[in-house]
Amino acid sequence: MSIQAEIEALEQLSALDQELVRLEQELEKERDALGGKRVQQQQLEAKLAAIQSSTHDMERVRNELITEARQMGVQLERSREKLARCRTEREVNAAQRETEELRKLYRDREIETQKLAGLIEQAHKDQEDTTQQRDAVAAELGQSAGAAETRVDQLEAEAAARRTEREAAVKLVPPVLYRRYEMIRKRRGSAICYTIDGTCSACHISLAPMAFQVLRRGKAFDQCPSCNRIMYYRDEPVASNDGEDAQADDSDGASETDASEDES
Ligand SMILES: [Zn+2]
Repeated sequence: MSIQAEIEALEQLSALDQELVRLEQELEKERDALGGKRVQQQQLEAKLAAIQSSTHDMERVRNELITEARQMGVQLERSREKLARCRTEREVNAAQRETEELRKLYRDREIETQKLAGLIEQAHKDQEDTTQQRDAVAAELGQSAGAAETRVDQLEAEAAARRTEREAAVKLVPPVLYRRYEMIRKRRGSAICYTIDGTCSACHISLAPMAFQVLRRGKAFDQCPSCNRIMYYRDEPVASNDGEDAQADDSDGASETDASEDES
């Protein structure tokens, strides 16, 4: 395999890796945005359920208190009738104590009922506010979730396609070179750099003139003395990925065009 072919294979691999990094970042962003809204919705649902449950409890207790107060009202009425029928002072005193006691119990329940009525009113208001918030988030999710999910699907499909291409690209790189590439990529994010005029395209350090001349002869790769990326020589900067094919080099002579079998 010629050095030029290896350079092309590495460039292809590197371009795919950069694209995969970009896709993963975008995917993460989309998933986070979607996830955040979902979490918010769940939290509001949970809050709403808690408010409803406590409102229900308070209403039950209030109804019990009202029933008790009603019963006490009846007892109080009887107690007053009893008081009217009393003959002796002792009977009068006892009946008065009973009436007083019942009146106090009745009042306690009235006060508690009023307190609860205030709390229940507040809870109803909380419930209304929370329902509004929940509905707003749900509406936002309804509008954006469909679009975001489609976007996530697209990005995932794109990433899967790039990974398949990557598998093919890896096969074009000699294993030893690939292992070096991966080691540097994992540490630096990108693993290759080039030089046109004696400086590293990635970290911009100047190379020793001798090292540059060796690279320029194009017989081997080097490693940047500063960033350690795999370095090679180029005539011109990488413009974009559009012109990849223009770099094709037939000089390695590994042509298989003559291998076709002619069976006439
Ligand atoms: Zn460098």
